[in-house]
Amino acid sequence: MVSVYDAAELEGWFRSRRRNPSEARRVRHAFLKRGLTPAEALAALPAEVAPAADEAIRFHPLTLRERVEAGDGATKLLLETAGGDLVEAVVLRIASGRTTLCVSSQAGCAARCSFCATGAGGLRANLSTAEILDQLTHANRLLRAEGRRVRNVVFMGMGEPLHNLDAVAGAVAELTGPAGYALSPAHVLVSTVGVPDALVRLARRFPRLGLALSLHSARPEQRRALIPLTVKHTLPALRAALEEVQALNPRGVMVEVLMLHEQTDTPADLEALLGFLSGLQAHVNLIPFNAVSHAPELRPSSPERIRAFAAALRAAGFRVTTRRSLGGSVAGACGQLASYAGGGTPWPSSR
Ligand code: SAH
Repeated sequence: MVSVYDAAELEGWFRSRRRNPSEARRVRHAFLKRGLTPAEALAALPAEVAPAADEAIRFHPLTLRERVEAGDGATKLLLETAGGDLVEAVVLRIASGRTTLCVSSQAGCAARCSFCATGAGGLRANLSTAEILDQLTHANRLLRAEGRRVRNVVFMGMGEPLHNLDAVAGAVAELTGPAGYALSPAHVLVSTVGVPDALVRLARRFPRLGLALSLHSARPEQRRALIPLTVKHTLPALRAALEEVQALNPRGVMVEVLMLHEQTDTPADLEALLGFLSGLQAHVNLIPFNAVSHAPELRPSSPERIRAFAAALRAAGFRVTTRRSLGGSVAGACGQLASYAGGGTPWPSSR
């Protein structure tokens, strides 16, 4: 079988049958860009080649198992890989009219951040480029009925994108390439817990790509307590990587700070954060904490503390936004994606 997501392989299949490779582009355009079903995409081919193409082309590496509406503009999709792993993607219909898709890069995650449901179940599998892209195709298919399509893609679903760099870079190339989905690189954002060399490599390859660091705490001990990976990738190494990224990327970087009561929101946290950010052109995104069942002791910061943090950062000259998470009613908000994995919130469906 050949994958519809591999342009070269697909063209090769048409060539091997002495067909014009433009037929490969026709199928890909129908399936990837127009959001048509496999049957509809095959119908765009001449009748003499369509049946063989139907047998040879693999369209969906992921099977859509469930779709749950949060009621706030978010839709959570539960998808299954051929290997039987479950991953989630979340469609976010934002009030401004923007449609964003939050995609997963791995089934599970090895980072085991204390506050995140995905890590509580450990890593099950890396997703391939095709499996990452198929999340977008499934999302666009359901959005077509609403006259919408995905305009922004954020790698903030399950997994650590920089632990699966090749597949993620392949997906970014296809998302932003003219023969693929043709999204602006400015509309694609990769969020990482912080793997310095991979971050710089990604910025070199895609200078206009949005990059975000989940910093959360600039106090070394506190960051280690929340994010065990800090032992391997220290704050000074992350700071140096951000500086390199900033030199490559005119848009600068986003720094995400999870607002946890008494853990990341005290005056000492603010002081450490300002020290870490000094000299960077960072956009700071404050993230209100979403409850996770495996860590009931963690509490969100009060809205007053978040406002005070934002004001202090702004006064220091940084651009600051506070995330408004959608999907909380169906465990589809940031940090809640677990798809039955240990410690996560179960799917709210009838099963
Ligand atoms: N592994 C990547 C991307 C996935 S998480 C990363 O760490 O960035 C996407 C964002 O959601 C990250 O900033 C992450 O720290 C945040 N997040 C994780 N758990 C959360 C929770 N319980 N509430 C709010 N945000 C959370």
